[in-house]
Order: sequence, then structure tokens, then C-alpha cells
Amino acid sequence: MRYEGMIYRPPSEAYSLLVQVTIGCSHNSCTFCSMYIDKQFRVRDEAEVFKDLEEARAMYSYVDRVFLCDGDALCLSSDRLVRILDKIYTLFPECERVNVYGNTIDVLAKTPEELSMLAEHGMKMVYLGAESGDPAVLKAIRKGSTREEIIAAVQTLESSGIKTSVTFISGLDGKAGWRDHAVNTGTMITEMGASYVALLTLMLDPRTEIARQIREGEFELLSPEEVVAETYLMLENADPVKPCVFRSNHASNYLSLRGNLPDDKERMLAQLRNAMKDSGMLKDERFRAL
Ligand code: SF4
Repeated sequence: MRYEGMIYRPPSEAYSLLVQVTIGCSHNSCTFCSMYIDKQFRVRDEAEVFKDLEEARAMYSYVDRVFLCDGDALCLSSDRLVRILDKIYTLFPECERVNVYGNTIDVLAKTPEELSMLAEHGMKMVYLGAESGDPAVLKAIRKGSTREEIIAAVQTLESSGIKTSVTFISGLDGKAGWRDHAVNTGTMITEMGASYVALLTLMLDPRTEIARQIREGEFELLSPEEVVAETYLMLENADPVKPCVFRSNHASNYLSLRGNLPDDKERMLAQLRNAMKDSGMLKDERFRAL
């Protein structure tokens, strides 16, 4: 396998074969993100991708999971994605899932029929970064999508047979607007109907726009205790009708939470209340990571 630059994957893809079908992120403008700051976006040559897959087949005797990267591999045309999915399942008949990073624009550029076709050819889940449910935060971070568009993208994927794992970021509006960020993110979790929700906590590369805002006094980071209070308010407002797996067990989080919404909501809120009383339960800053 040939890889170009740093490779990012969701924690749940730790045991997947990682295949770069695109390089970088076609959006590459979010003010908190440095993942693809050094990469000029391009689509990788299809023959080169197929050659990598063939080499992987020769190298690995058992591949049951494949993850397509980089940042928004879902931006490829549906026809090309189908050819890649077919190649994977032909080469690796033991493969049980192919997942991918995507953004709202990629999803809404495809018809529901195209998404259903991708599901039929074995695309199981799209990881989508919503970051916040608050319209003002989405604008400030230059997400390039509105709250309504993100909800529509998640609902379209889920009804097309592709599960979604949607990421939000604690502390993304700093001290200025944490209450709105929390309430609107909670209500968005209620409305959108994602199968999985993942909550990270803001950590910044010094090259990002928000890091510059902090240096110039335009943005104030939340303290760990304030992050817990924000998460509490967020969860209080999250009442999805369709069951949803909620996780905040990323290396960046101060407190690890995992449960199903709505069933485990009270247990997770109690965990947060305990952390509010005893900040010793929170991860030390030295052990956090992106
Ligand atoms: S957060 Fe996602 S969409 Fe935004 S620049 Fe980073 S990879 Fe691209």
C-alpha cells in the first residue's frame, strides 16, 4: 500500500485496511482543522487504487474491514465508488464492511437512488463531521454547510440504508457562546436520527485559524470543568426517537462517556454530575491527544 502524507481514520477503524482513494479534503477550510492543511486536494488515479488493493490482497490473509480515506472520499462520483466497492468485495470476499469519511456537500450532491446503490454495493457507514448544531458556530468555523443541510444529509443517508456516525466538538465556541452550542447541538442530535454520535473536545494545532484567534484574544478556550457543564447541557437536550449510540471516548475528551440514547441518558448525566463535584475524575491535560 502506498500512502501520501498523514493518514487519519476514526477510532473505530483501528483494525481496518486504510485505502486512500482521494488525497486531502476538498473543503479544507474549517477554522479548527489542520488534518489536511499540507495537502492539495486531488482524486487518486483509479488504477493506482486497484493496484494497492491487489497488493494488500497478496499481503494480508484476512481483511474484514476497509476504510476509504482521505477527508471526504465520498466526493467521488457514485459510479467510481461502486467500481471501488465491487473491487474490494471481489478481492476480499471475507470483507464485512466498507466505511468512508464524507461531508454534507458530498451527500447532498448525490440522489437518494445513488446512495441506495452505494448501500447495495456494500457501503455501510459514512462518518460525517457536523461539529455543532448551532447556526452561528457553523458559520464562524466555516463549515460550509447549514444546520438544516447537515440534518438533511444525515436523514438521507440513514433512509438510503447507510448508517451515519456524526461528530460534534465540545468547546467549539469557547466561552462566548457555549450555551447555544450545547443546546442547539443537543436538539440537532434529537432531530437528525444518526445511528452514532461521537463527541470530541477541541484541541488545536497552532496553524489553525482558531489558534490564531486565541493568540490575539478573540477566542477563549473552555476550562475542563466548563466542557463538562457544556456536555451536560448538550445531553439534557438530546432526546432522539430513534436509538443512537453516543460516545465521548476519544483521546481528546476529559471524561469518557458511552451509552445508548435515550436509554442511558440518565446514567451519563449522573456521570457528568459526579465529574462536576470531583474534577479529579477528569483526564489530565498531559494525557489528551488529537
Ligand atoms: S473538518 Fe472535515 S471538512 Fe473541515 S477541513 Fe477538516 S477534513 Fe475538511
